Amino acid sequence: PTSLLWFRRDLRLGDHPALLAAVDDAGPDGNVLAVFVVDPALWRPAGEPRRQFLRDCLAALQESLGGALVLRSGDPSAVLPALVRGVGASSVHVSADAGPYGRCRDAAVEQALGDVPLVRTGSPYAVTPGRLTTQEGTPFRVFSPFARAWRSHGWRAPAPRPETVRWLLDVPSDALPPGQDLDGVRLPPAGEAAALAAWERFRDDLLPGYPETRNLPATNGTSRLSAYLKYGCLHPRTLLADLADEEEGTEAVRRFTDELAWREFYADVVWHRPESTREPLDPRTGAIEYDTGPEADAHFAAWAEGRTGYPIVDAGMRQLLGEAYVHNRVRMIVASFLVKDLHLDWRRGARHFLQHLVDGDLASNNHGWQWVAGTGTDASPYYRVFNPTRQGRQFDPAGDYVRRWVPELRDVATAHVHEPWTAPGGVPAGYPEPVVEHAVERQVALARYQEVRSS
Ligand code: FAD
Repeated sequence: PTSLLWFRRDLRLGDHPALLAAVDDAGPDGNVLAVFVVDPALWRPAGEPRRQFLRDCLAALQESLGGALVLRSGDPSAVLPALVRGVGASSVHVSADAGPYGRCRDAAVEQALGDVPLVRTGSPYAVTPGRLTTQEGTPFRVFSPFARAWRSHGWRAPAPRPETVRWLLDVPSDALPPGQDLDGVRLPPAGEAAALAAWERFRDDLLPGYPETRNLPATNGTSRLSAYLKYGCLHPRTLLADLADEEEGTEAVRRFTDELAWREFYADVVWHRPESTREPLDPRTGAIEYDTGPEADAHFAAWAEGRTGYPIVDAGMRQLLGEAYVHNRVRMIVASFLVKDLHLDWRRGARHFLQHLVDGDLASNNHGWQWVAGTGTDASPYYRVFNPTRQGRQFDPAGDYVRRWVPELRDVATAHVHEPWTAPGGVPAGYPEPVVEHAVERQVALARYQEVRSS
């Protein structure tokens, strides 16, 4: 017998329960056909950095499969049944997808497969989204109680890497769509081996200092695992199992696993409320007034191109263009600036991020934006307006991050680097004056939020 393993956000061989299920189904004499489908509905909107990273991940996976990975392009509900018929497969195995598009797509594939079952084993999360509810049986909307329930629920031990898999060879494969110019973006090395190496480096060298360094964008203080987790080059369960051996409950382990829990929380919220990737989770905030028109468009362009005149904001937006990545603290600062200083709709910023981030993930991104915009989970205090100058001074005290990404500010003294308009010689040539005045726009934002809260 032949079973088919459809790879999606699980581009690895270790700790892969769906792979084990496919091997099991095929039996000792059977074969497993490995397939990846380039689905235009996901491929097109992903943005070139993410598409290139995915290409690189697929190349790495292809190498570990000894060339057995079959690529197909098209709608999975048309492509897969044809492939199944062609090789006479008796089952199709996947890791469950919890996202709104993935769930509909999988339902369509299931129907198109007819008698051949679509078997879902595991998911890209330690606890499958939708599994946890409050004591009243309702979905969690606040992070801390979710994280408590998540920890006490626990997770399975990592699945062992299968010793041998008889991959079905010689099935014709499509080519991947050709890459476009990356415009100088530097991407991380792709694939399972690179992901595990990045994890081990972080665990051994950086994790102990994580509580202190995680908020400092100039330092190499976080794991940079987000793109690997997004495409399943490694599974969070692998990390959690590794950390279970660490001294119980150290502050560093707790802080880091909390971040993994945020990822699981947002996936859970989206599982329960798929429309919350498009609409505010808090319906009261649906009526907030956002700016539109030519001036708003000009503000958006200044933000996207990193020329707002606020150094930490510009550094973050230029990091996005240079590395397809932005430090978490700076994601919050630039998002707050777009929504609360420029008064633009968070969805505009979220779309831009998804097109440019290598780790772009609908749940983490759109709920990260909603959190900053004060429209989403948690108490989401709408009155939290990040002050870009103060945030810069606090989290980039020596100005190294800003100088790295904004070369126009290289010669500005540290005392002025986060507010170059106060420097003795004024704003250096080539760097813009602030597009708006933060103190003024903060008041405007608060007034708009208060209006919808009291109505
Ligand atoms: P670490 O600090 O090493 O954290 C470890 C892992 O935990 C991360 O790899 C990530 O998977 C997860 N994680 C950490 N923080 C968060 C968080 N706040 N929410 C959800 N998961 C988290 N993360 C994405 O993976 N994709 C996105 O598209 C994305 N968009 C964001 C947009 C905004 C506006 C904000 C404020 C945050 C966003 N995040 C997103 C969350 C976070 O910024 C990144 O996960 C983190 O910066 C990745 O770097 P790291 O791997 O070094 O993180």
